[in-house]
Amino acid sequence: MTDVLIVGAGPTGLVLAHELQRRNIEFRLIDAREGPEAYSRAMGIQSHTLEVLEKIGVLPTFLEKGRKAQEFSFLWNKKTLTFSLKNLDAPHPYVLILPQSETEAILRKNLKVEWKTRLIDLNTLELPSGEKEEVSFPWIVGCDGAHSSVRHALEMPFRGSKLEEPFLLADIKVHTSFDFKGPFIFLSKKGFGLLIPYPLENTFRVVLPGLHEANTPQKLTALIKERGFSHPLEVTEISILSSFQIQRRHAAKFRKNHVFLAGDAAHVHSPFGGQGMNTSIQDAFNLGWKLALVIKGGAPETLLDTYEAERLPVAKMVLKGTTWMTRLLTFSQKRCPPLFYWVFRFLLGSQKRRKKMGELISEIGISYAMNPINYELLRDKDWKGPKSGMRAPDCPLANGSRLFERLKSPKFVLLLFSKDPAFEEAIKEEYSEWIEVQVVKGEAIRQKYAAGTKSLYLIRPDGYIGYRSQSFKTEEVVSYLLKILHPALLRNKS
Ligand SMILES: Cc1cc2nc3c(=O)[nH]c(=O)nc-3n(C[C@H](O)[C@H](O)[C@H](O)COP(=O)(O)OP(=O)(O)OC[C@H]3O[C@@H](n4cnc5c(N)ncnc54)[C@H](O)[C@@H]3O)c2cc1C
Repeated sequence: MTDVLIVGAGPTGLVLAHELQRRNIEFRLIDAREGPEAYSRAMGIQSHTLEVLEKIGVLPTFLEKGRKAQEFSFLWNKKTLTFSLKNLDAPHPYVLILPQSETEAILRKNLKVEWKTRLIDLNTLELPSGEKEEVSFPWIVGCDGAHSSVRHALEMPFRGSKLEEPFLLADIKVHTSFDFKGPFIFLSKKGFGLLIPYPLENTFRVVLPGLHEANTPQKLTALIKERGFSHPLEVTEISILSSFQIQRRHAAKFRKNHVFLAGDAAHVHSPFGGQGMNTSIQDAFNLGWKLALVIKGGAPETLLDTYEAERLPVAKMVLKGTTWMTRLLTFSQKRCPPLFYWVFRFLLGSQKRRKKMGELISEIGISYAMNPINYELLRDKDWKGPKSGMRAPDCPLANGSRLFERLKSPKFVLLLFSKDPAFEEAIKEEYSEWIEVQVVKGEAIRQKYAAGTKSLYLIRPDGYIGYRSQSFKTEEVVSYLLKILHPALLRNKS
């Protein structure tokens, strides 16, 4: 039986499909388009998303094809401020620049997409032949983008607004002697712009607000210069020219009964900040393991409520941040060009603020509130080291490998900071279907996790810390698992 209908084979639907496939869940993945999309919207893959791609097992191809950008620059009046991600506490301290069409192509490998298959309503699909298929699925996930049919079928409010000003977007070839280390935002009294270097040499994306008429290489060259990009650059060719308007909205709820919304179907934001696709992929990664666990009978349906509880606040936060950034740019352009420069100079002026900004942009700083599935005993509240609900950070291990290499399992991973054969055996014997036990060694990880010899961390399948404790007590671990897994599975085991 097919358990899940995934509507939409964009980045969100594809990552969800990987997560279900990894766990042997039967699904159908449909998309209304004739075939793969050639036009790319998102260009930047953030550090936290690269961690997701590592877990799924597709990262090497991304790293082969993408361009690592460690620096972002802000340019005003020939003065440049540079923000570097090099000190980010993550294995990938950069943004990987890769067109969305290539991201989707890599993710599509090994997945079957039913193209030209459109969801009409929650019980009807239109097939490539034009015939209608009456369907009924235990679970439906709407990954069908900003104009989501699933969201419409649910009559779910999509609150927010649209910015009236259009933005011009062009993919261009250039002549330049300037050595670009990453994207540039530039601004003058005439307006602002964004230049992103593609992985291909001398190929860029440029975004300029409020313009329709820049349709020749000469006009674009002049506009980029006029808007404050003072380094030598001449546009020689335009391959794509389009315009877009910024929407900022989120769905009132991300779940209604057996139907979920994820990605752009659930939230849309300004592309400034490069968060949309990344937040969407994180949605799919949060939902995938939970849905699989419930379908397999491992967890009660209430586990699925934590999807909205964890992801809706993130969507709101991203909306706030990207709206702030866009407003700052548009206000500066209209009223006070140097304002944008001063604000970024302030933000980059202290190590603490730079760290915070890096964590926000890369999304590694996202953590989930304490709730039944992110839990620790009161006894452990003063324990330093990453807390329950936070992303488990990577760290080198004594044998030269990295912690993240041990966290690729689709199961929970129980990290023990010393060997205890009896405890390990007790956990493995009863819970090996859901939990993998790993003993980790090394001074670096001990320090990073502020761990003692009897410390344990239970890492969720999406890399977040579910539970931690300073003692190896089976009954304590079980009492946490009772909050997640089906009590019937555990009742006789505690
Ligand atoms: C100009 C621009 C630049 C951007 N730049 C960035 C960036 O740098 N970084 C970033 O992170 N994000 C960026 N974004 C946002 C990013 O593109 C989206 O967040 C991302 O595509 C969302 O993925 P998704 O899978 O949720 O939706 P989509 O990519 O929109 O995919 C939805 C899919 O659902 C299918 N579909 C729709 N309706 C149906 C139906 N009824 N039945 C079946 N299939 C259906 C569609 O054909 C489509 O393939 C940008 C967006 C824009 C507009």
